[in-house]
Amino acid sequence: MSLLTQLVDELNAGSLRIVDLTQPLGPDTPVIGLPPMFGQSPGVTMEVISHFDDKGPGWYWNVLHLGEHTGTHFDAPVHWISGKDLPNNSCDTIPVQRFVGPACVIDVSAEVAKNEDFLLMPAHVEAWEKKHGRIPKNSWVLLRTDWSRRTDPKSFLNVGADGPHSPGFHKSTSELLARDREVLGVGVETVGTDAGQAGTFDPPFPNHATMHGAGRFGLASLKNLDQLPATGAIVIAAPLKIVNGSGSPVRVLAITA
Ligand code: MN
Repeated sequence: MSLLTQLVDELNAGSLRIVDLTQPLGPDTPVIGLPPMFGQSPGVTMEVISHFDDKGPGWYWNVLHLGEHTGTHFDAPVHWISGKDLPNNSCDTIPVQRFVGPACVIDVSAEVAKNEDFLLMPAHVEAWEKKHGRIPKNSWVLLRTDWSRRTDPKSFLNVGADGPHSPGFHKSTSELLARDREVLGVGVETVGTDAGQAGTFDPPFPNHATMHGAGRFGLASLKNLDQLPATGAIVIAAPLKIVNGSGSPVRVLAITA
């Protein structure tokens, strides 16, 4: 039996299953807010073109208006100034092979329950590797925080008087993953791949700066990471082929035993 036939058979039999790592995308989707001097990404709006009415008696369709970085989405290297001059750095030019890769899931949900500003340190990665083996080149590192259980947008964005509070990566961890482990990128359950307070870090938003500067990607607003094993799942995350796109809403799927 060929590998692909076996894959389909195992999916049909349920011995392999597909887990949807994607949040619903619509007007209720929470969007990141930046300090007021910066441009803002709007929320999702949908305008009906026709709905079985005079404008289209037999068909229903909408116009969608949204930022590239809305809901569960993909960050391309061209998103950041550190990655703006790299080759094949936009949604339409990234080689499609890089949209499929194995997942390494690092579970820090217990730490995040105690500390909303938790940062993943290199020591956490090394402890994970002692148990599960070295993170392979071209794999996704998915940070399981259970943050996606915050279904109320206010609690999900968690903005205080001093800005947002949510977990992320220490700069040295992003450097380890991007440069030494050569990952495809990192995926998170929060609204962006940097910690909530990362605008105050040096450099600001160090995960974006480091990952995209090294040609790596990001996945934000993931869910269902608690359904994945630490290793062994395959992630499929293909952004829309937006010409010169800096990112794209994406349906992220994982195949797992
Ligand atoms: Mn983004």
